[in-house]
Amino acid sequence: MKKCECYLIDWSGKNGKYIHISSGEIYDHQKHGALDCQRKVKEGLFNYGEYFNYCKFIPGDPKSNFPSATEKIETKKEIPLIKEGIPPISKRLFK
Ligand SMILES: [Zn+2]
Repeated sequence: MKKCECYLIDWSGKNGKYIHISSGEIYDHQKHGALDCQRKVKEGLFNYGEYFNYCKFIPGDPKSNFPSATEKIETKKEIPLIKEGIPPISKRLFK
């Protein structure tokens, strides 16, 4: 299935856990299936080109829906529009 299903998981990482939204359980790919794109890459369902094309939750990608590290740390109430300090993942790392 060549589409991003990462939205099925709550990536906000409360207590360091990611939650499988429809069941409310801690996401476990062995139990819920390979829902997140990184797992799909590991299982050979996506290649990295497809991962970067389809996934809307790439950690560190400024356009990603993945909750950013600055939002997690959140020392101020206002979240700056320009998020600094999160370098985009280089595609070259995965080749
Ligand atoms: Zn995804």
